[in-house]
Amino acid sequence: MKWTQEADKAMKKVPFFVRKRVRSRVEEEAKEAGVSEISLRDVNRTRARFLNKMEEEVVGFQVESCFGDGGCPRKANGSGNLQKRVTELLEAEDIRGFLKKTVKGELKFHHELRVAFADCPNACSQPQIRAMCIIGAVVPEISGAPCSQCGACVSSCAEHAVTLSGEGPAIDFERCLVCGRCVKACETGTLAGIRKGYRVLLGGRLGRHPRLAMELPGIYDEETVYDIVRHCVTFYKSRSTSGQRFSHLFTEKDYHDVAVQFRSRSLINMDGSIKKQAV
Ligand code: SF4
Ligand code: SF4
Ligand code: SF4
Repeated sequence: MKWTQEADKAMKKVPFFVRKRVRSRVEEEAKEAGVSEISLRDVNRTRARFLNKMEEEVVGFQVESCFGDGGCPRKANGSGNLQKRVTELLEAEDIRGFLKKTVKGELKFHHELRVAFADCPNACSQPQIRAMCIIGAVVPEISGAPCSQCGACVSSCAEHAVTLSGEGPAIDFERCLVCGRCVKACETGTLAGIRKGYRVLLGGRLGRHPRLAMELPGIYDEETVYDIVRHCVTFYKSRSTSGQRFSHLFTEKDYHDVAVQFRSRSLINMDGSIKKQAV
């Protein structure tokens, strides 16, 4: 949709924590009203409603994503279906209703439970500062296909995790971020992305006492990630009695408990090596 320069400029002044929502709401309302170009008046009207009647706009949760589905060449593993399932789960859990019951006073955006997806380790959606963070992963594995010694895998790896000898490539899983670039670069199929899954990080936030989310060891398939998210929602609803955020409740011990509970479902071993039986 077209925006006038004035409208676009005004959007940049909307507080960053509601900018994305205000922008899509302005477009939604303009579409409904049959407006073909967004004006300054449209922006001001929606912005005022967001800031003055914030509680009405609080949905209870946010599911954010990167632009992997828009054709990003860096995409390792897409998460469209998983995002849909997580959104449905959070709707069914009625997080807004839960917040209305537990929060004293008006609901604010910072009360919302936030889940962010990124389709590769570049993490453009800044998932590490959200309560739950899911990052697409491709595990590079050495297949039986002969290696041409072209070296493309070595030069494609920003982590210097691939080495090449006369016998073919070797991966250092201590360095590997499971981004799958070496797999894409390998034209002979010697490096193959047989296992695709997700890294899961929990308990991140910004604010006065910021903390990066803590990464569970391992790589998980869609079903397991869904179960981890469901586990975390149950944890959150059982502990948040007056609007406390997930990250303030989720301690290192809780992180350890989740890691232990789900580690047998990882697609790789805890030392990063490949699980033989899964190949
Ligand atoms: S996180 Fe990766 S896949 Fe997603 S937009 Fe950024 S570079 Fe592309
Ligand atoms: S998957 Fe691992 S080894 Fe391959 S390019 Fe990415 S970081 Fe390097
Ligand atoms: S593993 Fe693939 S990309 Fe790497 S040197 Fe061999 S053929 Fe080239």
